Amino acid sequence: MKTPWIVAASFSLALLLALGKAASAEGPREDKPVDSMAADSRISAALQQVSAERIRVNIEKLVSFGTRSTISAQDPAAIASGRGIGAARDWIRSEFERYSKDCSGCLEVKTDSFTEPPADRIPQATEITNVYAVLRGTDAENAKRVVLVTGHYDSRNSEILDTKGDAPGANDDASGAAVSLECARVLSKMKFPATIIFLTVAGEEQGLNGSRHFAKLAGEQMVKEKKAKEQGWMLEAVLNNDIVGGDKSAEQDHSVVRVFSEGLPAAATEKEIERIRGLGGENDSTSRQLARYIADVGRAYQDVVGVKPMLVFRLDRYLRGGDHYSFNQQGFAAVRFTEFREDFHHQHQNVRTESGVEYGDLAKFVDFDYVARVARLNAATLAELASAPAPPVNVHLLTKSLENDSTLTWEVAPGSLASAYEIIWRGTTSPEWEHVQRVGNVQRATMKLSKDNVIFAVRAVDAQGHRSLPVVPLPER
Ligand SMILES: [Zn+2]
Repeated sequence: MKTPWIVAASFSLALLLALGKAASAEGPREDKPVDSMAADSRISAALQQVSAERIRVNIEKLVSFGTRSTISAQDPAAIASGRGIGAARDWIRSEFERYSKDCSGCLEVKTDSFTEPPADRIPQATEITNVYAVLRGTDAENAKRVVLVTGHYDSRNSEILDTKGDAPGANDDASGAAVSLECARVLSKMKFPATIIFLTVAGEEQGLNGSRHFAKLAGEQMVKEKKAKEQGWMLEAVLNNDIVGGDKSAEQDHSVVRVFSEGLPAAATEKEIERIRGLGGENDSTSRQLARYIADVGRAYQDVVGVKPMLVFRLDRYLRGGDHYSFNQQGFAAVRFTEFREDFHHQHQNVRTESGVEYGDLAKFVDFDYVARVARLNAATLAELASAPAPPVNVHLLTKSLENDSTLTWEVAPGSLASAYEIIWRGTTSPEWEHVQRVGNVQRATMKLSKDNVIFAVRAVDAQGHRSLPVVPLPER
């Protein structure tokens, strides 16, 4: 029976041609809950190098500058005396330079200085300096992709305008600066296709001045990249560590670290808000995808990391803010890590004892092992993202007709290292991704699921199993 076979074959061929590079979700489907990504042994080995002892030395060194108030002295005499923000800034730079020397100059150590005009918390024009180190990606195209870790190195005491009194800031936020430094020391011994930036900013307590300046720079780079295809960089993720000292109060839970992420994006346009209002999406900002990614990293590396990310679906705590918001305002995915329970006697306080209560942000209240665990979680996230292929671009969900199947389309990012793509989804009431289906190295997939009932996303995967951040599709008519 030759003819029917030929007919069948031609039909299949025609169907294949019609589908193009498309995957069909018909036939046996391997629905399974989205389980933890597999730990990369190379990354696990690096995490073991994170040292609580180095973190202790760095936090105590930062405390030793007496005050790191952004408006404290930074003239040569103050720097020579080892007191004030200028001395702290120079020490951080020298520390990054030392790590770079240890990896044959693999880090580009840089400063971003600017003059902030007088404002409420800045009595006179003040030079503010962010200090950072760049571990350039090894792949020309992927090196434009950047993941970033930050903490603020400035501090304050009870009086926001006090430039002289002690402001040790061991937890807030020498702990976060120490996370950036330790991630730089450990990850600079590795190579990644994408770029990692280890940042420490100043001006946080005066009004997020340092991070705002840096995020704007990143925003300009992003626009440049999009418009002109010039040499620029794309910031994919920002990890802000602020108060990750694990204060040793009785009610502290040292097994978890909170991860705050915004819901409605600060940078959303009216049109985007309208879409979110109509179709849901208030729980799917890029920052929230980053938070879910961190939860996944936490599961994959839990044995080495030793602290569990606890996702909090809000921008920040009541009455408080932080540097991640500066990046959110520029449209970047950015989250905040903070210890489970803060002791407010130990933050923004003059060092003193009153009625038997010790006030002040002293190093003795910091749990250095806890900071090391948080640093490992950060390092694992940075390493996974910098190893992963770029997320797919122009991800769409076709909505031109009423149907119960759901077709997704996407494009390959320039220089993509993806070997396959995965469709992930969850119920609209579920906090984390629940199901995954690998669809191969294609740019289109039809799922036998109604888009009305679930939330979809697409992510890229490489041959070693590193996953990109997922991208939630935009509706396309
Ligand atoms: Zn802080």
